[in-house]
Amino acid sequence: MPRPIEALVYPEALAHNLRRAREHAPDAKIWAVVKANAYGHGIERAFAGLQGADGFALLDLAEAERLRALGWRGPILLLEGCFEARDLELCSRLNLWHVVHHEAQIDWLATHKTTWPHHVYLKMNSGMNRLGFTPAAFRSAWQRLSGLTQVDEITLTTHLSDADGDLNTSRGIAHQLAIFEAATHDLAGERSISNSAATLRFAPKLAEVRGDWVRPGIMLYGSSPDFPHHGLAQWKLQPTMTLRSRLIGTQLLQVGDTVGYGSSFTADRGMRIGIVACGYADGYPRSAPTGTPVLVNGVRTQMVGRVSMDMITVDLTPVPQAYVGTEVTLWGRGPHGELLPIDEVAHAAGTVGYELMCALAPRVPTHVA
Ligand SMILES: *Cc1c(COP(=O)(O)O)cnc(C)c1O
Repeated sequence: MPRPIEALVYPEALAHNLRRAREHAPDAKIWAVVKANAYGHGIERAFAGLQGADGFALLDLAEAERLRALGWRGPILLLEGCFEARDLELCSRLNLWHVVHHEAQIDWLATHKTTWPHHVYLKMNSGMNRLGFTPAAFRSAWQRLSGLTQVDEITLTTHLSDADGDLNTSRGIAHQLAIFEAATHDLAGERSISNSAATLRFAPKLAEVRGDWVRPGIMLYGSSPDFPHHGLAQWKLQPTMTLRSRLIGTQLLQVGDTVGYGSSFTADRGMRIGIVACGYADGYPRSAPTGTPVLVNGVRTQMVGRVSMDMITVDLTPVPQAYVGTEVTLWGRGPHGELLPIDEVAHAAGTVGYELMCALAPRVPTHVA
């Protein structure tokens, strides 16, 4: 028998979450963001659930090739654009739309030989200060692109740094929206602004947040972008991934006994613990402390002691019948449909659902459920 850990991916839940994005932005088209191997779910597996999207957005040219190989003929957008001039050849060959966020990318386009003019996303740095032209430089970049025979359509885009917060606070999105609007109001072209947080929190009320295309990622994968303010259930999203394993051993502790490396947990009473075949080499966060939630046979309990490479230890007090072979849910759905949101595990470990799903290790066999 192989080591009992495995991950399950649910295409129907992906499709449900995509419909939720549509409900929040009914008049916009949807880029399903599938970067980082579809947030750890696998492009091929995610594609099975997300074919109702209007396009797929990602970063890696090899991932774009995989999508084309799956038969996707619709739009694909490279969110960081081309990394060097010759990437444009693949863009032409695979008909990829690409972000343009610095001058050299325009120089490369200007000397690129293509029979099919490209659809580009011109990106503004409206305050995030990662990628994009400053508001002051945006218009001349737009004019340069407009003059190129290699370009036929220019969509105007920016990325929001604080869409998980409130609208009008000092770091609220209203500030970035105003900067974007002021610099683009008289420029032709479609608009794309929103990530998941903006789609969930602001798109239903604000047409300028919806724009022509929204770009949800994390919400499609059953994680709330503004946890713990809102959880999965409040946004009516479904988990799309389960990480599960089994108990491979148990121990009886007496008062004063310690558990694991560094003896970081000390029993303050007699108790039974279970040893789970799951560790940081599987992608479970080493930073998860004693108290991190876990399901044993669907019953909620907690981790005790330190996460090691291949094992964790869990308190079996609420599940006295658990023994070697009992199913353990690290996140996702328990054996009888119980829910352990990935966000709760991430929060306990001091991180976000994004990081946990992206970190799922290649050694964990993953199946479509
Ligand atoms: C990753 C990404 C998104 C999706 O963000 P989520 O928070 O996962 O919804 C949208 N736009 C850009 C430019 C991105 O890089």
